[in-house]
Amino acid sequence: MNRKRYLIFAALLAVNAHRAGAEITLSHGTYPEPKNSDRISKWEGSAVYRNVSIKTITPVYGENDFTHEFDLTLVSPRGTQWTEAQIDEHVLKLAKTYQQCKIKVRNIAVISADVPAFMLDMNDTGPGHFIINSAQVAYVSSMPEAWPKPVVFLTDGYAATWAYSVASAKRTSELRGRDYNYLANTAFISSEVNLDWYELNGKDKTYSALPHELAHIFNYMYVDKDGKEDTHSRDNFNNLMNRDTTKENDYLAPYMCDIFKASPLMRQTAR
Ligand SMILES: [Zn+2]
Repeated sequence: MNRKRYLIFAALLAVNAHRAGAEITLSHGTYPEPKNSDRISKWEGSAVYRNVSIKTITPVYGENDFTHEFDLTLVSPRGTQWTEAQIDEHVLKLAKTYQQCKIKVRNIAVISADVPAFMLDMNDTGPGHFIINSAQVAYVSSMPEAWPKPVVFLTDGYAATWAYSVASAKRTSELRGRDYNYLANTAFISSEVNLDWYELNGKDKTYSALPHELAHIFNYMYVDKDGKEDTHSRDNFNNLMNRDTTKENDYLAPYMCDIFKASPLMRQTAR
């Protein structure tokens, strides 16, 4: 078996193992499909997004006692290191993570497009400057209103991940003296999250950056006994949002679920 074949084989094994444990499978489809697809599929691209094609991923759950649900858009520009198997793996971890809160990931639109080369790699602004770069601005300002938020962009490059909640976009606007509020409810995840060095930071195998970044968008906040706030958890147990990367796994405590369910991006499921 050559190396490439072996990697695909290993990825399939990993995805299947996870499916069995979580009783969640993924159904793949193409637009046009449900509801807001009409508006999406009529949009043919822009100077930034060319040759747009849209697929769907729908998690199929073994249980169905959800109280809340959300839709998600993943933008996967052609030419990055991301593979479809890796996207599936993160989506399965996402579904499994939020299932703990009785929150269902309803439908995911996966947008493929050709984009200008500078937008593929977030290295252009250098280490430590992942926040607000020209690529992020181009991605978000050129996307159509119809793409359901949150919208997560799958890129390459250093610094791995970043999310803009409504609050952090507002804070960034104030700090920079420019209006960056349009970045709200978007996140960027580099393919580096799939590399060994990222996992070797001590994160548990159940952890994924996708549910973590979405938790920021769903307004996660840790408040200590003195009322001091932190965007990451300082709890002494392992969880999705722990500030200590060696204490990061997929666990969501009940107080976290309450925060997420209060997000305007969350809908109550029909009963
Ligand atoms: Zn974080």
